Amino acid sequence: MAIVSINNVQKHYGAYHALKGVSVQMEDGEFVVLVGPSGCGKSTLLRMIAGLESISDGTIEIGSRVVNDLRPKHRDVALVFQNYALYPHMTVEQNMSYALRLQKTPKHIIEEKVGRAARILGLMELLQRYPRQLSGGQRQRVAMGRAIVRDPQVFLFDEPLSNLDAKLRVQMRAEIKQLHQRLKTTVVYVTHDQIEAMTMADKIIVMRDGIIEQIGSPIELFDRPRNTFVAGFIGSPSMNFIPGAVKDGRFVAGIGVHLPLPDGARVDAVTYGIRPEHLKLDDAGIPADVVVVEPMGSSTQIIAKVAETPITVISTERLALQPGSTVRLMPDVPAVHLFDRSGLRITG
Ligand code: ADP
Repeated sequence: MAIVSINNVQKHYGAYHALKGVSVQMEDGEFVVLVGPSGCGKSTLLRMIAGLESISDGTIEIGSRVVNDLRPKHRDVALVFQNYALYPHMTVEQNMSYALRLQKTPKHIIEEKVGRAARILGLMELLQRYPRQLSGGQRQRVAMGRAIVRDPQVFLFDEPLSNLDAKLRVQMRAEIKQLHQRLKTTVVYVTHDQIEAMTMADKIIVMRDGIIEQIGSPIELFDRPRNTFVAGFIGSPSMNFIPGAVKDGRFVAGIGVHLPLPDGARVDAVTYGIRPEHLKLDDAGIPADVVVVEPMGSSTQIIAKVAETPITVISTERLALQPGSTVRLMPDVPAVHLFDRSGLRITG
C-alpha cells in the first residue's frame, strides 16, 4: 500500500500539451478512478505513474519516493490492461508466475503466491489451461492474478473491462471492487465510463483536455458538480440544461415557460440544470411535448421538449404515453442546479 502523489505534472508530446499541470494525492488504500472523455490525458497520467511514459515536468511520488527517474520494474506497481496481454503459449499458472520466476523467487513462495491469487480469483480449476481455452472474463481474472502475485504497492488499471460484453463488465466491476476490499491496495483505475467510475471509486478525478475539472467522492460529484462539464458527465442519463435568465424570482426559459427556483438563487444564473430523475409528472408543472417514449422495464425514459430544448425524464411509474402528447413536468426544486455564464455552478 502507498500514497501516490502527483505534483504539478505536465506532459508534452512534441508540440502537443497533453497534461497541463495536474496535482492530486491518492491516499493509501484508496480506489481512485481517473475518468473523462477520450483524449483527456488519463492514460498518459496512468502510464507516467507506471513509468512507461516520461514526465515532462512536475513530480510523481509513490510512498515517499519520487519515482520520476525510476524504471517501471523498480516502482513496485502492477499494471492491468484492457487487452490482458497474456502469453498464449503459457498456462494460466505459468502466466501468473512469470514475473516471480524472472525475479528468481524461490519455488515454494511462487506456489504459495499463485495459489493464494488463484483462490481469491476463483482460478484454481483453470491453472493448467491456456489463454485460448478461457472466456474473456477468465482471461481478465488471470491478468489480475498476474498483478496480485507481485504484491505491488499500487495497482494500475487501464480500461480493463472495455473488451468485455455488458453483462460481464458489470460482474467484473463487482469482482474488482471486492478484490480491492480484500487486498486494500491503492488502486488507480482509468475509464471513460462514468458508471464504472461512480460504482467503483472512493475518489473520482474528472479530467478534460489535460486538466483536472474536479476531484471528489461519487456522491459529491453527483450532488455538487463544480461546473456544467462535470454535471453533464457524471450521472446517466445526463443532466438536462435549460438556457434562460432569472426574472422576478423565477427562471424564464422561453416565452411563457417559467421554472421554479430554489430559495436564494442568484440572479446571474443563465443555465438551469435538472437531472432526469428529478423531474416529476405533475399537473401543476410546465408543459412539454413528448418526442420519444422508451420503456426500460423498471422505469420509463421520456424525451420531451420544453421551450424547444429536448429534456430527458426518468419515471418509475408505468406510463401509457405517446409521442405527440403533452405532459407537465415539475422539477424537484431542492435538486435544481444553477450555472453562471462561465458554466460554474452557483447553487448550494
Ligand atoms: P485518454 O486516455 O484520456 O483517452 P491519452 O492520455 O491516451 O488520453 O491521450 C491524451 C492526448 O495525448 C490525446 O490527444 C492523444 O492523442 C495524445 N497522445 C497520447 N499519446 C501520444 C503520443 N505517443 N504521441 C503524441 N500524442 C499522444
